[in-house]
Amino acid sequence: MNTNKRRKSLSLQEGLLKSKMKTIWIDGKKMAEEITRDLIKRINQLRRIPELDVIWIGDNPASAIYVQHKQKKAEQLGMRVRVHHLPETITFDELHALIEKLNQDDNVDGVMVQMPLPRHLNSDEVLDMVSPDKDVDGLTTVNLGRLVWGGAKLVACTPQACMRLIESVVPNLSGKTAVVVGRSRLVGKPLFHLLLSKNCTVTQAHSKTENLSQLCRTADILVVATGQAGMIGVDDIKVGAVVIDVGITRQSDGSICGDVRSDEVEGVAYAATPVPGGVGPMTVAMLMENTVRAAEMHQGIE
Ligand code: NDP
Repeated sequence: MNTNKRRKSLSLQEGLLKSKMKTIWIDGKKMAEEITRDLIKRINQLRRIPELDVIWIGDNPASAIYVQHKQKKAEQLGMRVRVHHLPETITFDELHALIEKLNQDDNVDGVMVQMPLPRHLNSDEVLDMVSPDKDVDGLTTVNLGRLVWGGAKLVACTPQACMRLIESVVPNLSGKTAVVVGRSRLVGKPLFHLLLSKNCTVTQAHSKTENLSQLCRTADILVVATGQAGMIGVDDIKVGAVVIDVGITRQSDGSICGDVRSDEVEGVAYAATPVPGGVGPMTVAMLMENTVRAAEMHQGIE
């Protein structure tokens, strides 16, 4: 169908539904606050305060903001946080020595390396320096492997955040068709396996996918994690779908926007996440939850 005809039929379809359907905008901030309250109770039951160590290399301004958020949240929970701010010129061996020291330190529960890294450091190799039982980002090969084969205790934060947001509106995902746009180690790939483990029929799309729009329109659950601002609009969304927008793009006026044109979603999607206020705060909450879980494991509480 040509675009004009399709638009017409979609607007008819939407018009009919719009009168009945009000999109649920999932409040990630509120959900994150509820998780925080629960974590404070769990921390109070520990023998020792959990410690999170954040490694931040270079001076990327976006990383500075993310690190500050994580530090603030962890301190708000009463955890100990140490930020290791390292120069852009740090060598692989120097970084390895630091991470190894933290791996061996019994007072450290979680170690995370803020991405992106300077070009001379291979991010896959650096992520794998972290001991799997302190890998609160859930991004080591060991923990990603456990996610694929089952039994993962520390699951990648953003994919885990997406699952919580989706399950808050669709508790039973069995049999649903899911499309994940993006296949990164950080988001897309782990999320594929989390959705599969809930018996969704999952398709992973990426920059070489053909007929992306057509594919997205088959999805009961559509997750977009590309970093391409506003690439998904009404023509790409099945009426009644759940749409999770992971993307974050900072615009010239300083505001941030997602990969989905959110103004087009209202009345078409059954539920959707806003940017900001959706996946972002839940990702930080999942990092906190993983740190508490790691501390519980280190103290023999499971
Ligand atoms: P990456 O750049 O590592 O991966 C992007 C993925 O999107 C790739 O798989 C790429 O395909 C795919 N892609 C890019 N362009 C297109 C396109 N036009 N059509 C289809 N697929 C496309 O990014 P991340 O996964 O790390 O992050 C994605 C976004 O999510 C970013 O905006 C990031 O800032 C945000 N983010 C937000 C978080 C949060 O807390 N809200 C946390 C983490 C990330 P290919 O593999 O073929 O190149």
